[in-house]
Amino acid sequence: MDPSATEKYLHSLAEKWVFAKAIVVLTGAGVSAGSGVPTFSGSNGLLEDEAARKFITAEGYENDPVEAWRFYDLARRDITECQPNSGHIALAQLQNSLPHLILATHNVDGLHQRAGSQRVLELSGSLWELRCTEENKIFMNDDVPLKLIPPLCSCGTILRPNVVLFGETLLANPCNELYKVISLQNGILSLVGLSGINRSIRNLISHARFCGWRICEINISETLLSPITDFRVIGRAAKILPLLADYVKRISNQ
Ligand SMILES: [Zn+2]
Repeated sequence: MDPSATEKYLHSLAEKWVFAKAIVVLTGAGVSAGSGVPTFSGSNGLLEDEAARKFITAEGYENDPVEAWRFYDLARRDITECQPNSGHIALAQLQNSLPHLILATHNVDGLHQRAGSQRVLELSGSLWELRCTEENKIFMNDDVPLKLIPPLCSCGTILRPNVVLFGETLLANPCNELYKVISLQNGILSLVGLSGINRSIRNLISHARFCGWRICEINISETLLSPITDFRVIGRAAKILPLLADYVKRISNQ
């Protein structure tokens, strides 16, 4: 698509977003990749790293929570050094222009909140939350580095990162909230920087289609999800989202 055709397409997409009864944006690793947060695959991918391969699985974590926490402590430090990119910032602006927009993410880095997004459904949890599995309590914690490894709950239990590890299902609360929104009315579900490899996410998209939602995809390349989408924009989220946010703002103000 030549640049002017892309801009025309984005303008018409922006109109659809503005006039949709409901709009959900679901972001994935491709959005944070622009901030230098490692993705799972690719040359800078987590799967290239031996410690990451071990400790991002539920089994790996349970076998050695102390060593796993050394890995997560470093991951938290690395993320602290990353900054939200223009894609995150554009999504925060889109939430201001479209108050009915619901932002959900598969990412656990907290960069949407640091970019100014107020409401974010974190389907895979957050690295900045610790969970006591005995009492089922969640604590916010942004200490870098952690004061104690592994971090302990006042009840004596080792706190775990409140993130979905490989082999676990998405978190029930944000997921149920999203299913409820999707079941109540139809709208546009936009997938941004999402590779679609996760089965729970694929189920969510299937449910949205079943409920009459149209599916939009913004990604740097075609994905396994592309064949089932209604609107597609190929490009980096950090470049496409600011353009879209700008059109949405102009159309909403007309
Ligand atoms: Zn506890």
